[in-house]
Amino acid sequence: MCEIVPPVTQVITKVIVTGTAAMLLSASVHAGFRPEAVPGGVAGIIVAPAGAPRPEVRYEGRPVLLVPQRDGWRALVGLSLDTPVGERTLDIGPEGQSRPLRFDVTPKDYPVQKLTIKNPKMVTPDPTDVARIDAERKRQLEIRSQFRDVPVPRTDLALPAEGRLSSRFGLRRVFNGEPRAPHTGLDVAVPAGTPIRAPADGVVTLVDDLYFNGKTVFVDHGQGFVSMVCHLDRASVEAGQPVRRGEMLGLSGSSGRATGPHLHWSVYLNGAAVDPALFIAPPPAR
Ligand code: ZN
Repeated sequence: MCEIVPPVTQVITKVIVTGTAAMLLSASVHAGFRPEAVPGGVAGIIVAPAGAPRPEVRYEGRPVLLVPQRDGWRALVGLSLDTPVGERTLDIGPEGQSRPLRFDVTPKDYPVQKLTIKNPKMVTPDPTDVARIDAERKRQLEIRSQFRDVPVPRTDLALPAEGRLSSRFGLRRVFNGEPRAPHTGLDVAVPAGTPIRAPADGVVTLVDDLYFNGKTVFVDHGQGFVSMVCHLDRASVEAGQPVRRGEMLGLSGSSGRATGPHLHWSVYLNGAAVDPALFIAPPPAR
């Protein structure tokens, strides 16, 4: 759901850690990964000491990604763009016997992006398309909410295609003067036919042609860590197929709601869309 536009400047409110400050560390999880406890960001929280058995950790009822580190087990919690600012709670331990661990979400302002879409059906779909769009939304929600319980050896991601970062995550969008859902991915300006590659090892969980996203591939990197690439010209993988980091998933295009060829890349953690730029190294120029 993208449009190629000039780069925008994001206004970022500094992350302020309070309350459970001792449990929240600012150190990178892996090179290139920068936790940011803001709406659309990722809270990186130590939940158990190093050497302890892996704890059970849930956020809003969903299991979260856990990585073992020198300083302990770190939970990486995806915070959707509509996360309220203020105190949130992780549940540590088995269901029914869990203890709460509180952390703070601080505000982040995302800029407005105004776009003109030539096809009015892509702004306000025909009633006959609404059922299809609803069914596709549910299917994608299921796919991105799966929890495949395997170790995740690294949490930094490779940009699926080299190019200018054209539309950043979180833009509050206005299509043809009408407010629409915010941009829940990162766009990369690439010509049609550019190879699009897996950001990390994983398993392909969906290959489909969707109303808004066009030709789309989902890759499950494990423990609810999921990538989606869309607006492809064609996919070159099938659902169920394991892929390695850097392996080709398809070729870029402009299928679905796109006014020109580019890549749209979304990243999900515990079902929440989070900013893909937090996972890529080196940090992109802002
Ligand atoms: Zn996009």
